[in-house]
Amino acid sequence: MSVPFVLTPGPTYISNEVREVLGRELSNPDIDPEFYEFYKNVCGKLQRFMKTENEVLILAGEGILGLEAACCSLTEEGDRVLVIDNGIFGAGFEDFVKLYGGEAVVFKSDYENEINVDSLRAFLERDHNFKYATLVHCETPSGIKNPVDKICPLLKEYGILSVVDSGSGMGGDELKTDKWQIDIALGGSQKCLSAPVGLTFLSLSGAALETIYGRKTPVKSFYCNLAAFKDWYKNKWFPYTMPIHLIYALDKALDRALSDDFVKRHSVVAEAVRTSVKKAGLEIYAKSGFSNTVTAVKLPEGVSLPELQKIVLEDFGILVGGSLGYLENMVLRIGHMGENCRPENIYRLMAALDYAFEKTGAGLKCSLKDTFREETKKNGFKISE
Ligand SMILES: *Cc1c(COP(=O)(O)O)cnc(C)c1O
Repeated sequence: MSVPFVLTPGPTYISNEVREVLGRELSNPDIDPEFYEFYKNVCGKLQRFMKTENEVLILAGEGILGLEAACCSLTEEGDRVLVIDNGIFGAGFEDFVKLYGGEAVVFKSDYENEINVDSLRAFLERDHNFKYATLVHCETPSGIKNPVDKICPLLKEYGILSVVDSGSGMGGDELKTDKWQIDIALGGSQKCLSAPVGLTFLSLSGAALETIYGRKTPVKSFYCNLAAFKDWYKNKWFPYTMPIHLIYALDKALDRALSDDFVKRHSVVAEAVRTSVKKAGLEIYAKSGFSNTVTAVKLPEGVSLPELQKIVLEDFGILVGGSLGYLENMVLRIGHMGENCRPENIYRLMAALDYAFEKTGAGLKCSLKDTFREETKKNGFKISE
């Protein structure tokens, strides 16, 4: 099987340096005392990455496990939970809340714009009796970034805990967990960190831990129960065997991310992508809240997404993202996150898209790759062909 160049909005391209770690000799993580020190050390790096002093855990499972574990561990029968929804991931939280017996109250807002903080404030003035609220930092399917910096402190004014899905946000977009007063911040290995799929990690504030430990009823799951990790370090015990090789890779990916001006690189590339797209006469799906990590571009009339993707894959060996749910076949997604987010990589994709749009008969006003090169050059990036 030949592997294409993965420029999708997660999973992202994995560097050789991270990939090589997967072949390391492996210890038994249950028994080797060094493993507990190693895990703790990786959590420390995640704390720096997420800008938090809160406890951080790494769980063995894809990003979804983190979202479900947070809802499962917090929710007791009849708890009222505010689901802040302006996209597919935002809406998805309702199912998790209900699954564990909670009453989900959905604050639904326009899917083309970032959450309007004033409307949310007005809503909360009328109704604020919630145990916690869920929200999404970056809606990956639509490329919309929400103002978590304003929403979480607002929730705190009402004593509402916050659960923030920053799966595709953190790293590429600023995430200040402590400053923004986020109780549970969630991320995944395969997005901006460009590590293999299979790990989720989260930070837990003191208030979140108190709520989980202080439950009146038992958590209705074993695998999703965050309380099961209590005192893991003291007891040198995890509820299940940790995937040591994936954590080696995550550790290496964190070293790469922490040694770079990550947010700066993401914002330059993202801005250049948006300028190129607009100049070429294409339309960006989002009307506000532009994410640094993914751009969803509306497909011009008559252009078929599968056809476009096929050309990009067969003629250029690149995997480019479509979208899902209500956006399926309506937008093309450029995943400029993590290792993907290097000017030379996105330049290659832009060149492929120039050709693919031409071939599908959608004549662009000007070349995507030329504008992209000019725009990144302004910020001191040189692209060699
Ligand atoms: C990727 C992602 C997740 C994890 O879910 P997938 O199964 O990889 O789709 C969760 N939330 C967001 C916002 C994501 O981008």
